[in-house]
Amino acid sequence: MQAIQSGDVRYYCFETLSSYNVPHAVITRHGGVSPFPWATLNLGATVGDDLERVKENRRKAFEAVGRDIHAYYDVWQVHSNRVICTHTPRNPEQPHEKADAILTNTPGLTLFMRFADCVPVLLFDPVKKAIGVVHAGWMGTIKQIVALTVEKMISEYNSSPGDIVAAIGPSICQKHYEVGKEVVNEAYISFQSDADIFIRNENGHYLFNLWEANKYLLEKAGVEHIEVSGICTACHLEEWFSHRGEAGKTGRFGVMIGL
Ligand SMILES: [Zn+2]
Repeated sequence: MQAIQSGDVRYYCFETLSSYNVPHAVITRHGGVSPFPWATLNLGATVGDDLERVKENRRKAFEAVGRDIHAYYDVWQVHSNRVICTHTPRNPEQPHEKADAILTNTPGLTLFMRFADCVPVLLFDPVKKAIGVVHAGWMGTIKQIVALTVEKMISEYNSSPGDIVAAIGPSICQKHYEVGKEVVNEAYISFQSDADIFIRNENGHYLFNLWEANKYLLEKAGVEHIEVSGICTACHLEEWFSHRGEAGKTGRFGVMIGL
């Protein structure tokens, strides 16, 4: 990924998406107005930060990336496997839909999500001109949301999986992501013995590789072009918010993709 500085705000872009000129950004915690423990560019409205500050941070983020703040769609992220297709911005008067993946093929629209360790997956079909963003923590990963999102691109936009470009963004690394036995059990129910690929048992401590699991799901769905950032949020607290790395007292960083 490449870092871009825009005023006080710093964000990262994927090489593959940039090569297709897809407007997108994974926005670091720098350049906002929030104090500790949300310092500084917190875009999460449900983590205890003052809503006026969150609004100002959102304004700064959209301005830095050069996207219209009146033309974005976001959801209430609930660790589900629900995928939403939209043709319009979210009406700010309406409550958020509960979902964890958003798709569109409408030019001018920005899809927007918030993260702090969970995996952001960006999707782009250069042939059908459709985009998507997915939120996958361990629950979304086990529910295979990224595969359901690719299926939705096929049914909704007639996408061919081989055309789709996928990008797996900054999120928690395997070393930092110990999970309990109940998570391991659910992973083996969902993936059978293939869960061996991304769950490592280190002396009774189970470490879950969310990057590999989502890459595995994308490949199984037929996606061939996958860029993995390899950037861990908990390893780089100076750049990202990390739920694990900051013991739950932290903000949310933004991910955007547009057409
Ligand atoms: Zn790490």
